[in-house]
Amino acid sequence: MYHQSTKTLSTQTSSPLLTVSVAPARVIRGSDILTQASDAISQLGSRPLIIGGERTLAVTQESLQELLKQQRLHVAQACYSPDCSEASLKTLHKAAKEHKADVIIGVGGGKALDTAKLVAYKLELPVVTIPTSASTCAAWTALSNVYSDEGAFLYDVGLAKCPDLLILDYELVKTAPQRTLVAGIGDAIAKWYEASVSSGHSEQTLIIAAVQQARVLRDILFQKSSIALKEPGSEAWQQVVDATVLLAGVIGGLGGAQCRTVAAHAVHNGLTHICESGSIHGEKVAYGILVQLRLEEIIQGNQLAAAARQQLLKFYAEIGLPQKLSDLGLGNITLNELQKAAEIALETHSDIHRLPFKVALEQLMAAMVSTTAPVEGRTHTGLTSTMNKDE
Ligand SMILES: [Zn+2]
Repeated sequence: MYHQSTKTLSTQTSSPLLTVSVAPARVIRGSDILTQASDAISQLGSRPLIIGGERTLAVTQESLQELLKQQRLHVAQACYSPDCSEASLKTLHKAAKEHKADVIIGVGGGKALDTAKLVAYKLELPVVTIPTSASTCAAWTALSNVYSDEGAFLYDVGLAKCPDLLILDYELVKTAPQRTLVAGIGDAIAKWYEASVSSGHSEQTLIIAAVQQARVLRDILFQKSSIALKEPGSEAWQQVVDATVLLAGVIGGLGGAQCRTVAAHAVHNGLTHICESGSIHGEKVAYGILVQLRLEEIIQGNQLAAAARQQLLKFYAEIGLPQKLSDLGLGNITLNELQKAAEIALETHSDIHRLPFKVALEQLMAAMVSTTAPVEGRTHTGLTSTMNKDE
């Protein structure tokens, strides 16, 4: 019902109508800004439905909901659990109708925001996103991921537009566990490794711009992540939050459907079908980048990919992103499970096929278990010198 594949858009360069949804209509950011934010919300509707997780909703009852009531808005709330799934979307759709909601507010992490955006999209209502962590750029983008009730990735839905209002309250984001920002860094840095592969040779102005912004984003994260994580709330921290929540969103907006994910997210999608480890989106994506680079090494003999992987391994060690399956809580994965994740990553419509070469199941499985392998040709072992001779 909610499935509208954005993939159909990606090749239509000759289509007479290409919608560009670069950014939310309005972004309000600052510390302790919920009072001003509630004023901005009241300009969008008078009967908001707040969608979030149970814990987040409990917290907003005393803060955001009070403020909205002071604005004389008729507020209702609904929980999106168990996931941004078709069952939840159906329930929430009904809740919004019953409340006669005229604006939807999503509060929480990526899944809460994706759910709120989809409900608003189906009901053609304005939507406000209030991220409570910097774990993804979901507060910004015109895209939602739909999962099963068990959390397995199913498909994504391209939305008509970016949110009507994004409220980034740094005080709110600061209360989130540090791990969410680390994951956000993983998800954001993937933009470069994926966009440069899927769109690095594009001749289109906006896509060239998006790929270049992805490089800028990567460099900002390389420079500032360590300091940011050591000093939450500092200037560097705020800049890194802006990078993961806002700039990562800009790249998705500029690049659109044609500047898509590649193997890193495909590997993430596969892992969601076997993961009971509780790792979050950006952590699996970060690991997926290493798998993608490893594929470029194994299949293409790409030395740049090998160097990039070493650079990332160092960076991951510094900030605490997962380098291998055991870091994702999958140290005891069976060969069957590994194969299942790889098979899902390789499904016909998977973005992994945007790689400029074919990937065999065995090659993907090999890449998945060798993300921390030393670079061949750099170490002086007997094996390496033999391999060098073969070249
Ligand atoms: Zn992502």
